[in-house]
Amino acid sequence: MKIQFDSYCGIYCGACSTPGCKGCKIIDDTHWSPNCKFIKCAQDKGIEACPLCDEYPCEDIMKFDNDGYIHHKTVLQHGLRIKEIGIPAWLVEQKKRWSCNQCGRGYTWSEETCQSCGSKLFSVKKEFGVKSK
Ligand SMILES: [Zn+2]
Repeated sequence: MKIQFDSYCGIYCGACSTPGCKGCKIIDDTHWSPNCKFIKCAQDKGIEACPLCDEYPCEDIMKFDNDGYIHHKTVLQHGLRIKEIGIPAWLVEQKKRWSCNQCGRGYTWSEETCQSCGSKLFSVKKEFGVKSK
């Protein structure tokens, strides 16, 4: 089954390690957060993702970006980039950003060292200077 790596809120699902989840745009029983307010809001407004909304970034997005969870910190930056270049080009950029620049293995937000080749990785913590929660 295909995984969809773009989300409603702007999180890049390709850097997530939640087992079984196929992304929030493929709603089924395995999705991590069926009650997500961003999904509901975007669907009510008939938009493909939050960054494409006229009200972006809204208060909820700003709160989410600053709630202390390490991967939520990527949301605003991603959203502004999506506004600029669109979702398909953003997905290409993100795939590259979350791949080890030595061996090409994909990695997740909190990883600091590549499990395949031992290279130092560009984690969220490094990029944003945030502590994990
Ligand atoms: Zn590597």
